[in-house]
Amino acid sequence: MVNLVLIGAPGAGKGTQAERLVRDYGLLHISTGDLLRQAIAAGTPLGLKAKEAVGSGELVPDKVVIGLVEETLADKAEAQGFILDGFPRTLEQARALEGLLRKIAEPLHHVVVFDIPIGELAERIAKRVAQSSSSGVQVRSDDNTEALRRRIDDFTRATVVLLPFYEERQVYQGC
Ligand code: ADP
Repeated sequence: MVNLVLIGAPGAGKGTQAERLVRDYGLLHISTGDLLRQAIAAGTPLGLKAKEAVGSGELVPDKVVIGLVEETLADKAEAQGFILDGFPRTLEQARALEGLLRKIAEPLHHVVVFDIPIGELAERIAKRVAQSSSSGVQVRSDDNTEALRRRIDDFTRATVVLLPFYEERQVYQGC
């Protein structure tokens, strides 16, 4: 059983690695970005609240994402552990996660950080957009230059606060 947090910039490959871990180890993949996109597509009240922020690459309020993660963690009974992908992104979220895990008596084993040069990210996202377009998959509304710049800035701000937080707790690993 292993419980992981993946931290990486947009385009760093968190989703791809998470898919492999799910396939090979039966972990539950909790991607707050995917959960928000699903809520938006389904037009739920939460989706309506999050739509504008997600479309423009801004962070959704902490309370909204913390609630989503709490609900999803409650469903993890069958899994061999979980992978949090894209959460936490703020200190408030990191603190809330500690509280949630304490409540369900689950440890956090590792925080894995994907260290990819910023210059490479835009290239990877461009490749993802091209692949989606050519295979008829809808391109993410936030995969455009302006929103991407915001997402990368937010990531930089997040790592500045999250890495010391997790280093202190001795669960941090670079890769
Ligand atoms: P990426 O890592 O490619 O930027 P995600 O799929 O993780 O994309 O997230 C997409 C969007 O969903 C973010 O830009 C933000 O608007 C919202 N989001 C996802 N996770 C969080 C979070 N933990 N806190 C606030 N907003 C979030």
